Amino acid sequence: MTDTPSAPERFLAAYTTLRLGGPAGTVTTAVHTDEAVETVRAATAAGRPLLILAGGSNVVVGDEGFAGEVLVLRDRGVETVGEDQTGLLVRVSAGEPWDDFVATAVANGWSGVECLSGIPGAAGSTPIQNVGAYGQEVAHTIEAVHAYDRVADEMLVMTPEQCRFGYRSSVFKHNDRYLVTAVDFRLPRSGESAPIRYAELARSLGAEAGDRVPLGLARDTVLKLRAGKGMVLDPEDRDTWSVGSFFTNPVVSAEFFGTLGEMPHWPAPDGTVKIPAAWLIENAGFPKGFAGAGVAISGKHTLALTNRGGGSTAALLDLARVIRDGVRERFGVELHPEPVLVNCAI
Ligand SMILES: Cc1cc2nc3c(=O)[nH]c(=O)nc-3n(C[C@H](O)[C@H](O)[C@H](O)COP(=O)(O)OP(=O)(O)OC[C@H]3O[C@@H](n4cnc5c(N)ncnc54)[C@H](O)[C@@H]3O)c2cc1C
Repeated sequence: MTDTPSAPERFLAAYTTLRLGGPAGTVTTAVHTDEAVETVRAATAAGRPLLILAGGSNVVVGDEGFAGEVLVLRDRGVETVGEDQTGLLVRVSAGEPWDDFVATAVANGWSGVECLSGIPGAAGSTPIQNVGAYGQEVAHTIEAVHAYDRVADEMLVMTPEQCRFGYRSSVFKHNDRYLVTAVDFRLPRSGESAPIRYAELARSLGAEAGDRVPLGLARDTVLKLRAGKGMVLDPEDRDTWSVGSFFTNPVVSAEFFGTLGEMPHWPAPDGTVKIPAAWLIENAGFPKGFAGAGVAISGKHTLALTNRGGGSTAALLDLARVIRDGVRERFGVELHPEPVLVNCAI
């Protein structure tokens, strides 16, 4: 189904949580999987540039927009496709709003995604950067990713190994070869959460790391924690006009970390060390609320760069550059953007 959107809707700002981004050449909205596949196949055959968008919550689109075809995924569906003693296999369509699915899982007693409550965007986007929060990531529960391969012109069912999930990464990130059409999650049937792994969440729950808590309580507590950081979308709250975390937490070698001095960190089993980007940013002199032209660091969360209403992508990226360069100068650590940058760069 191809739309001929009115002028304001041709601006990709209408499709992104930052509310930034210039015009699209054309916008096609797919409400069925086969429409999405057909759109991608036709654009590939014609050599037309194509941008896939779902919730627009992890993209920064340039002020010049995107001159090609933008495919907006709105295909919905949650289907139980298998069940055994260990739990259920649930197939979720790519365009299904992620948090609606999490709410359904919690209501039905399907355990394993409750700590991912409140993350914006669509289910089919979650494998792209192996979405994670509060000690859970989708790689823990994904059994398969269904995808259309533009190069081979065929439908694939990809295993987690083929997806190559890492920290905020996978084979799909920065790679336009695949259209994810659906995701299969294996979820134990249980009224209790997966073991709580994240210290801040455990503290808020009055629980110990490793405890399980009722699913609804886990969801409500995560939503409360997230809202306090501007991490749940709220049109009235400009602290949420963001892409969530703008920078990933840098991962450095233990040897390099040893040269940095005292700071919070998480050692990884492979000998590398992850450092909280928010701490680096604050300690390089960029507090919450630090502002550029119509854009600013969120008043609630140092990692979120926000559009205050009159911002532009150019201004947002100027602010990101100032922060990245300041952190590099102060600590010698390189920050990398988490969102996908479309027709723009820092
Ligand atoms: C307030 C806020 C809080 C957030 N909190 C978190 C968090 O806690 N943890 C976290 O990991 N992320 C978080 N994010 C980032 C974002 O919500 C997630 O990455 C989300 O999964 C992106 O989904 P989307 O549908 O909006 O993707 P989009 O922004 O529409 O797309 C993102 C990228 O994926 C590609 N893509 C999307 N769908 C498909 C598909 N079906 N097939 C192929 N490619 C596709 C797009 O082309 C683009 O490159 C947050 C964002 C915001 C605004």
